Amino acid sequence: MSSSPVSAMFSPDATAAIVSAEESPSSPLDLPLLGQSLAQLQAWVVQQGQPAYRGKQLHQWIYAQGARSLTDITVFSKAWRATVADVPLGRSELHLRSVAPDGTVKYLLRLADGHIIEAVGIPTAKRLTVCVSSQVGCPMACDFCATGKGGFARNLATHEIVDQVLTVQEDFGQRVSNIVFMGMGEPLLNTDSVVAAIRCLNGDVGISQRAITLSTVGIPGRIRQLAEQHLQVTLAVSLHASNQGLREQLIPSARAYPLTALLTECRDYVAVTGRRVSFEYILLAGLNDLPEHAGELADLVGGFQSHVNLIPYNPISEVDYQRPSDYDIQDFAEALRERHVAVSVRYSRGLEKDAACGQLRATKLAAAG
Ligand code: SAH
Repeated sequence: MSSSPVSAMFSPDATAAIVSAEESPSSPLDLPLLGQSLAQLQAWVVQQGQPAYRGKQLHQWIYAQGARSLTDITVFSKAWRATVADVPLGRSELHLRSVAPDGTVKYLLRLADGHIIEAVGIPTAKRLTVCVSSQVGCPMACDFCATGKGGFARNLATHEIVDQVLTVQEDFGQRVSNIVFMGMGEPLLNTDSVVAAIRCLNGDVGISQRAITLSTVGIPGRIRQLAEQHLQVTLAVSLHASNQGLREQLIPSARAYPLTALLTECRDYVAVTGRRVSFEYILLAGLNDLPEHAGELADLVGGFQSHVNLIPYNPISEVDYQRPSDYDIQDFAEALRERHVAVSVRYSRGLEKDAACGQLRATKLAAAG
């Protein structure tokens, strides 16, 4: 692990880390074709001296046919393929694939600069959901999160986000129906690439914006900025606590972002986009799952279009929080329902195998020494 750039850049100070996250460059690649729109690909082929219709073929091969390099695109002449063979398409390499008994598939993907990220494919009845990462590691250092314990390296570029979805789609041989930004990283520290990826996944891969969920722990001003993009995605906010003191205990960055300010931005998001906001609430036994917490939570989220997702804590080795009993989980949900809060309990998929998002990579990097 000592040679890992992720551990080398670990910063326990969340505020300092957030600043470095924003200064961090995206991928060093100049021209990955993945992530570009049809118009951009057409302009590029024309610039290369090819007829414009080649752009449409290129688009089709990149987004629907699973081309991994320009040399794969057999409708192009051999001579032209030879001249552009080195142009990066922007696909990752599969580093590890791991299937859980419930059918959830976790992927560790190697990026062009050697960093490893995690993506997860979650099949349910008619759906295929992909849990994508937005950063290599995460600077937020939330106390219960495996990714946060591993430190932060850099933001992902647009193509590195889109690649995760295509990888899962190709591996399952099934169209992806839903995407959740709940893998490694804080998407709103990488808003430009994340928004560009959402537009590409919608416009080029064909996934409905309404089937995309962006999960954030909240960065001051960024939810408002996202609202201004007028996307139809679902915003999920990782609340995890029913009062400011408790939230600061679990989420270091909460010190710089009072709950009142966070909730004001959420209300504005609903007003601007017309979409309800989901609140995620990890249940930690004895800490935030008592009746008084349910009461406080109902007061916080009451009165505007929202939904609470209760997430029973998924144990990680670095801290000794406890997951509540099923009985206590249902009790907490019931207390919220009595207060007219729309609530569901979300059990992590693939628990048997290295647990929730972020944990597979943490386990493998630790095992690698
Ligand atoms: N940074 C974003 C997205 C990544 S985390 C965010 O904080 O929302 C996605 C979700 O998984 C978050 O709600 C996060 O709190 C949750 N999560 C992280 N560690 C977990 C754990 N050990 N058990 C259960 N949920 C966890």
